[in-house]
Amino acid sequence: MDIDRELNACFIGPYGENDQLLESLTVEFLRDHVYWRRNLHPEDVPVIPTGANRLPKFLAFESRMRRELHGLSAALKRSVPFHSPRYIGHMVSDLLIPGLAAQMLALPYNPNNVSAESAPVTIDMELKAGLQLAAMIGFVADPTREDCAFGHLTSGGTLANVQGLRLALALKAFPVALQAASVPLPGVPDTASAAFQLAPAASVALWTAWKQWRDALPAKEAREWSGRVEAQRLEQLGLAGFFARHSGLRAPAVFAPSTAHYSWSKGCKLLGLGRDQLRLIPGKAMRLDLDALSDALDACHAAGEPVLMAVGVLGSTEFGTIDPISGLLDLRDRCTARGQGFAVHVDAAWGGYLASLFREADGALRSRAAVAEGFAAFPAPHVQAAIEALHRIDSITIDPHKLGYLPYGAGAFLCRDQRAIDVLAEGADYVFQPDDGGDFFARHRSLGRYIPEGSKAGANAAAVYVTHRVLPLDASHFGELQALSLRATEVFVAKAEAFCQRVAGRVQALVPFHPDSNLVCLAFNPRGNARLADANRFVRALQRALSADPTRPLQLGEYFGSVTTLKREAMGDADTARLLEALDLPPDALEAEPGEGNDRLVILRHTLMNPFLLDEHGDSPVMDGYFAFLERWIVDHS
Ligand SMILES: *Cc1c(COP(=O)(O)O)cnc(C)c1O
Repeated sequence: MDIDRELNACFIGPYGENDQLLESLTVEFLRDHVYWRRNLHPEDVPVIPTGANRLPKFLAFESRMRRELHGLSAALKRSVPFHSPRYIGHMVSDLLIPGLAAQMLALPYNPNNVSAESAPVTIDMELKAGLQLAAMIGFVADPTREDCAFGHLTSGGTLANVQGLRLALALKAFPVALQAASVPLPGVPDTASAAFQLAPAASVALWTAWKQWRDALPAKEAREWSGRVEAQRLEQLGLAGFFARHSGLRAPAVFAPSTAHYSWSKGCKLLGLGRDQLRLIPGKAMRLDLDALSDALDACHAAGEPVLMAVGVLGSTEFGTIDPISGLLDLRDRCTARGQGFAVHVDAAWGGYLASLFREADGALRSRAAVAEGFAAFPAPHVQAAIEALHRIDSITIDPHKLGYLPYGAGAFLCRDQRAIDVLAEGADYVFQPDDGGDFFARHRSLGRYIPEGSKAGANAAAVYVTHRVLPLDASHFGELQALSLRATEVFVAKAEAFCQRVAGRVQALVPFHPDSNLVCLAFNPRGNARLADANRFVRALQRALSADPTRPLQLGEYFGSVTTLKREAMGDADTARLLEALDLPPDALEAEPGEGNDRLVILRHTLMNPFLLDEHGDSPVMDGYFAFLERWIVDHS
């Protein structure tokens, strides 16, 4: 196995091997920042007097600060050791040095990416980071094209998903406002219900046409029309006012697979749609069941119930599974053709960066055969198809702070067509300043008008942009990192299966389904046990042995993992039956026992993203150690 050793330079390393690299960068750029301060107006005399740092108050302040910082540093030693290959719990690992260095470098400049006025440098980096990610997933990323994609950073995947919902809702309701305001534009449907069924692309076209039409009117007339349309918009009326005015319309449904992240529930609550509007589609082997979704969409169509969005997950949080995105888009196209428009958003908070492995440096998609080189099974055909289909979706969430190996506070939202985001522009029509005179960057530099946040760190944007420059989002750079993680996953699965054989005398253990990406689960049932509650108690106890316990020295924890649960809704009946049988649990185990939590099976969950899981021969002593630890634990506890 040939592991690209360039990656050895990318991280601080489990042992802090690259400490000098990070230290020299930190010192160099901190000094550089100081020179920048001094050179602003060198003729200004220093304000803080020489010798001030020897006066009692200064010294008292310094010692107080040092005491607290030492306290903080000591306390942080109880942190979870994400950097260690012994940590295979949640979706986090070591940090890429270029990102960490860029973020630390930018921090003392304190740019605020709410607008270019407070972040003249890092705003453009954020817009470019959006384009870098857009190119990775196959969106148009040429800013001179009017159909170019647009992306911005968010605090994380949760807010990017909320932004997806917010944009879809704005686009869905806008044609209704045009209709209600009787705007004489071709393409405006005759009825509110028809207007509420338009697909996002049709809404974007209407929005663009409306702005052109309005801006060609004399100023006074244009203002009047703007006022009329604005008064009819959902954003003006609120859901209550909007639906009171249009009694024939109903709150639109959001379809997501049952494996969807809980941020979708949060988002529906936050937007006032309500949890009732979020319809979780039962899964088939932890992936969206297209037949079930198709039935649900048919039912909505028959009942005239509008649909806001269908969510596909690219890398589920709990299982790393990838939904059949390509089939989802075919279904979307069929629905659009029958006048049932809705947005497709892909939640790739976890799996988004996997797409880098599927791109050549020139942006071309790689064939499945090319991607598959060096893997035992990756990529499954539906995974390849999902990546290839991404250019057809409306919007996407990708988290640089997950498989982008960057510090927290970095999620990203992208929409396929930059013209869509304009409907979110805060105050656009009141201010009534045509803002589309300039180029792509000029148009979007007032980021605060579109994003859910206001003030936000430009340092995050610097980290994302610089990292993508150092490690471009293609197969031979960023993709290498993803490949490493996927290879580690395949090694882990093989070792897990051998482990299951070894412990078979004491527990039934198995990998419940083959992973699409780099999360691997393990299910257990002690031999002879027929009760779900006891199987769950067994894994919960194992979980405690795999947790970083803040009340004890960290070194007492040998390995660090996480758990999740399996439910019938996500697995589907066939997979549930298969799994329960393999575990020697009764077929009704998920329904038979009373008590909270007894409708789900607790399982171990492993995230294989640490870049140092494999040694130079492609083997993994650390994984061997982990399975030996599990084996010892099982012997002691059964
Ligand atoms: C992590 C995750 C989220 C939420 O992202 P945060 O950055 O934690 O807010 C949403 N969806 C999926 C699929 C995720 O894995």
